[in-house]
Amino acid sequence: MGGPEITLTDLATALVNKEFVYYYQPKVSMITGEVCGAEALIRWHKPDGSIIPPYQFIPLAESIGFISEITLAMFEKLIVDVTIIHDVSPNLSISFNASAKDFCDSRLTDKIREAVENQSVEPKKIEVELTETVMMEEDESIKGHLLLLNELGVSLAMDDFGTGFSTIDTLSKWPFTTLKIDQGVVDRMQSSDKDLTIVQSSIRMAHQLGLEIVAEGIETEEVYLILQNAGCKIAQGYLFSKPIPLMDFLKYIKSGTHWPSLPAGMVHMAQLDHIQWRKEIIDGACFLCTDKSGRRFVRGNPNLEPQQCMFGKWYYSAGRTFKGVEAYDLIEQPHNRLHELGRKILERARQNGPKDELVPMIRELTSISNEVISLLQRLEGEMVMTSNPFEPQ
Ligand code: C2E
Ligand code: MG
Ligand code: MG
Repeated sequence: MGGPEITLTDLATALVNKEFVYYYQPKVSMITGEVCGAEALIRWHKPDGSIIPPYQFIPLAESIGFISEITLAMFEKLIVDVTIIHDVSPNLSISFNASAKDFCDSRLTDKIREAVENQSVEPKKIEVELTETVMMEEDESIKGHLLLLNELGVSLAMDDFGTGFSTIDTLSKWPFTTLKIDQGVVDRMQSSDKDLTIVQSSIRMAHQLGLEIVAEGIETEEVYLILQNAGCKIAQGYLFSKPIPLMDFLKYIKSGTHWPSLPAGMVHMAQLDHIQWRKEIIDGACFLCTDKSGRRFVRGNPNLEPQQCMFGKWYYSAGRTFKGVEAYDLIEQPHNRLHELGRKILERARQNGPKDELVPMIRELTSISNEVISLLQRLEGEMVMTSNPFEPQ
């Protein structure tokens, strides 16, 4: 932009002289309101004091085949930085950006594996953010490397979901564990109901796929609250901080800044999970009555363990924040009864008796289900009615 054209020699010299550094942008848990991690974003610190942003040299590095040299060198730097960050806050998860080209050979995967195996970093605490995967889609060896990362326990985020090649198609083919909703989509959400629906549905989809959900580009309190209400779990954007040098990031986490954490969206998501489970029981029962093999039913198998269904997973983990709130505490008993009844309904249906026998059981299931939903709605209402959490206390 304006300056002399950057060449391969410039990039190679900069790499040797260690002029590339990572800046860190905090990520905030919308459940606890605390900083839960950061994204490492590259900057080129030139000897003349100027700072070159990634869009001015990363696309070039990718096109001339130099990106992997940069990524490999930066990964070593990342491990050093992460150790320093973990000395201050041991639970933070740090993500870094990689191009699909970085997985064309095994060098990056080997380096990550080495770092995990020699315990330089815990696999759960680093994450690879991947963009622009279209050209590589058919390359099975890349997928093999990514599956290896999965096996190691390293997270893999699809960056910029909703734009370019970060599509549902890619999501279904590649082993992602996190979905990052693109900042452009998040931005448009405020002025377009259509975009709002797309964001809300993407969050729901990611939740059902068991993926972590991050929204990027959050600049206002309003957007933060909309996303929190939609059940988003992690937020990143200028509202919290721009990407900052490592030392400033350490100061930021030491300051213990806290953001609003009233996860009403999670309560809403729990209701949808429960409704889905109830539907799967009823669909399953109907299907088993008509087709003894139960083949098709196997796919939508509702989990019969109260702690393992999607609702139960929330109730016994993130939902614990509400412990002591009456509406929350009262849910456990009817939820357990629901699971007992669900199991009985499917057993009876499997015996292939007359459908009529199931009717009173399903009626009872619906009645207990209504009890659970009504308690969840009471809980949700209590959360929503709390005064604007951004207002000074
Ligand atoms: P990205 O991975 O999607 O990173 C998010 C970008 O959005 C960052 O720009 C960040 O500074 C910016 N951003 C974050 N919050 C906000 C906000 O609230 N408002 C606005 N307007 N922008 C926000 P940055 O650092 O310039 O990076 C641009 C892109 O360059 C990154 O997009 C990523 O694709 C790429 N990149 C950055 N570092 C690396 C790297 O080490 N390796 C590779 N391969 N790509 C990198
Ligand atoms: Mg990224
Ligand atoms: Mg992004």
